[in-house]
Amino acid sequence: MPLPSDLREAAEEIGPGVVADRRDIHQHPELGYEEKRTAALVAARLRDLGLSVRTNVGGTGVVGVLRGGKPGKTVLLRADMDALPIQEENQASYASQHPGVMHACGHDAHTAMLLGVARVLADRRAQLAGTVKFMFQPAEEGGAGAQRMIDDGVLDDPPVDAAFGLHVDAERYVGQVSVRPGPSNASSDRFTIVVQGRGGHAARPHRSVDPIVVGAQIVTALQTLVSREVSPIEPAVVTVGSMTAGTTFNVIPDTATIKGTVRAYNEDIRALVQERVGELARGIAAAMRASAEVDYRVGYPVLTNDPEKVELVRSALSEVFGIEAVVDRDPSMGAEDFSFVLQRVPGAFMYVGVRNPAWKVPRPVHTATFDLDEDALPIGVAALAATALKFLSE
Ligand SMILES: [Zn+2]
Ligand SMILES: [Zn+2]
Repeated sequence: MPLPSDLREAAEEIGPGVVADRRDIHQHPELGYEEKRTAALVAARLRDLGLSVRTNVGGTGVVGVLRGGKPGKTVLLRADMDALPIQEENQASYASQHPGVMHACGHDAHTAMLLGVARVLADRRAQLAGTVKFMFQPAEEGGAGAQRMIDDGVLDDPPVDAAFGLHVDAERYVGQVSVRPGPSNASSDRFTIVVQGRGGHAARPHRSVDPIVVGAQIVTALQTLVSREVSPIEPAVVTVGSMTAGTTFNVIPDTATIKGTVRAYNEDIRALVQERVGELARGIAAAMRASAEVDYRVGYPVLTNDPEKVELVRSALSEVFGIEAVVDRDPSMGAEDFSFVLQRVPGAFMYVGVRNPAWKVPRPVHTATFDLDEDALPIGVAALAATALKFLSE
């Protein structure tokens, strides 16, 4: 069934409201599991539209259910609501009013866009065949808010047949939307290694066990996991992001602490690296008379888009924006906790270009100067609304 021809106009028409919501949320950013104001705004908007609303789902999450006038399948659309612990450096009128907290990953835009989608679809409720479930989740940035909402039943009652979401893409220009079949975002795990040595006077190292030197060997050896133990045609990353030890120039400390992250694209490699980080750290420490304690935390799984659902997204997007707007996405080693949803329900995650054509360099996410071209907001609204309608009409 073809999509309604006025979908894009409908999204453009409510554009100013979506921009206003985005700016409101941007000015009042909240960290993961603290999204109280944002959740209240979301719940109020959804109730105004006549949706049935559940709050405090998996913490501060909100679920809205829109039942169409005709029976059919259930599709879930998802946005994340949390901000980052970054001090905003932008001078915009809508800059963050909360010191040290900033919507630097575009989740303000995701939330505002999904509210726009709810409005567009609620306006067509009578013709809608099936149910649309709106998932507004807390704590995407490391807190696994999606998993908490799943534990709290977001995928049940009614059960969800397919799930879709989007993220802003700071590299691509406004007007482009990208999506990729199969694995699209990496898994993300973290580790902490504490090397236990024996401190002492820097001038008498033979009477100590220097944890800094042991730690340096471990950091170097970790570099060989990807280069020597993982197949060269499989993407994987081991990054040590922090190494702390000692307090001054002439004292050998007792311990050194190493922290890092592991990214992978398949579960076998993920498991291999997990095992080998521990073996290397403990083995090297033992060989050098020290010991190492390894705390390895499994985080977000690989985000895998269902190829059929990717085709559905592509066909919906080409119908609304023209084929030239739909571009292929390169795989990313970034992680995204929508992967927890896509582990259970087939679906797809798309990326909406937000770079202004006049910006000579991109304004990357997770930086103090991140911003987006708000012309992208109605595009995101139309993209998700079209995807949901396409899925329900098939
Ligand atoms: Zn982020
Ligand atoms: Zn994000």
